[in-house]
Amino acid sequence: MAMNIKRPNGTEDVLPKDVHKWNTVEKIARETAESFGFSEIRIPTFENTDLFLRSVGETTDVVQKEMYTVKAKETEFTLRPEGTAGTIRAMLQNGLLNEALPQKVFYMLSCFRHERPQAGRLREFHQFGLEMAGSAAPTADAEVISLAKTLLTRLGLKNIELYINSIGCPSCRTKYHEALKAYFEPHKEELCDTCKERLVKNPMRLLDCKSPICQEIAKDAPLITDYLCEECDEHFKKLQAYLTNLGIEYKVNPKIVRGLDYYTKTVFEFVTTEIGAQGTVCGGGRYDGLIEQLGGQHIPALGFAMGIERLLLVMDKQGCDYLTPKKCDIYFATMGDAALEKAMELVKDLREFGYCAEYDLMGRGIKAQMKYANKIGAAYTVVLGDNELAEGKARLKEMESGNETEILLNDKFTTNFENEYFNKVLDIMDDENGSMFAFTGEDK
Ligand code: ATP
Ligand code: MG
Repeated sequence: MAMNIKRPNGTEDVLPKDVHKWNTVEKIARETAESFGFSEIRIPTFENTDLFLRSVGETTDVVQKEMYTVKAKETEFTLRPEGTAGTIRAMLQNGLLNEALPQKVFYMLSCFRHERPQAGRLREFHQFGLEMAGSAAPTADAEVISLAKTLLTRLGLKNIELYINSIGCPSCRTKYHEALKAYFEPHKEELCDTCKERLVKNPMRLLDCKSPICQEIAKDAPLITDYLCEECDEHFKKLQAYLTNLGIEYKVNPKIVRGLDYYTKTVFEFVTTEIGAQGTVCGGGRYDGLIEQLGGQHIPALGFAMGIERLLLVMDKQGCDYLTPKKCDIYFATMGDAALEKAMELVKDLREFGYCAEYDLMGRGIKAQMKYANKIGAAYTVVLGDNELAEGKARLKEMESGNETEILLNDKFTTNFENEYFNKVLDIMDDENGSMFAFTGEDK
């Protein structure tokens, strides 16, 4: 019976032909984070549901509509919808926050949200993210934003705008919540059901609603920036001064509130208009209350997360460079059993040298082997038959130019590999003046 099982909606397969794109982003992200002194952390894929209720927030879309909660026997867990909660949980549980502050960690992980799948919006997606715990200073905000900016630049991305805002601390937010309630109250009946509830529990969440009607009503809502207390205002001004000093362009957008409840003071987004509606490639901010909320001490913290799929959409669109995928360096095309066995030996040695070396595993004829070598993009092919073996020689072909030279299968080839026989061959063959043929002195 033919298999007719398809991948679930909102998930993606990354095929071998595309995986170098992921490797590019992951490598540059890792190097950038490490150059800012961040270390990698790896956390579980699922956590106790309570962790997300207490951190992400009960009135957020993520918790109300998007969580994948799984029951196994009598226990219940939730697949992580984001990385911050699990990371902070791990830092607390493993005592990292008792060590020298700030603690700086980064991660690359899959996230799960039950959303309506569309371009740039998946049900399983991947984030590169980081968290810094310990610093209340606006320098930390500037540092984290600067890291995100550096990474986007190193990936070769252009036309990505940085929007920043401050959503204040619990003290300035009390007044702001009152103002929002007063503003939305007359429109109560027109709001979506979720927002009706938000109006009572957490009116700031109304500004994050994706429903067009709620968005239209929210258009002239009071702005948080008019309600900041002195400390938050000062913090926000200093951050802006640091960004200017670092040459990082930004726009203040008082409408950004971010989709998760734990944010305080600084929030920011990097946004592009080039990939349609899902243009936020990076979102982050400060969450000074979260660690305490999860049972730790009062330790201020901040971070961001980038959606890797969205980054790749923009990189593809803008024609950014990717790392070259690894291909076969040398393919051994063999005729006869003795030649095949010799090839197996040589390939083993070459691999020890770090080359990608392959030989026929299909029992194909020589022509078909050459065709295969071509298909997999082998840079060189060694043609080896039993006769050549007996004479201690083989033909080395550079696939792109078609140039061939005869090489000696003497002990250099096998036992004496430390003289970098093949390095020499490859170097010589790279030399445009054709000196490669000087290697055995026998041009073909
Ligand atoms: P959006 O407003 O686009 O829904 P969000 O505020 O829910 O984003 P965050 O929780 O801040 O997003 O996640 C950080 C980043 O992860 C986003 O900026 C985006 O690049 C990416 N991201 C979030 N949700 C998805 C998704 N469903 N599919 C793909 N990427 C996503
Ligand atoms: Mg979302």
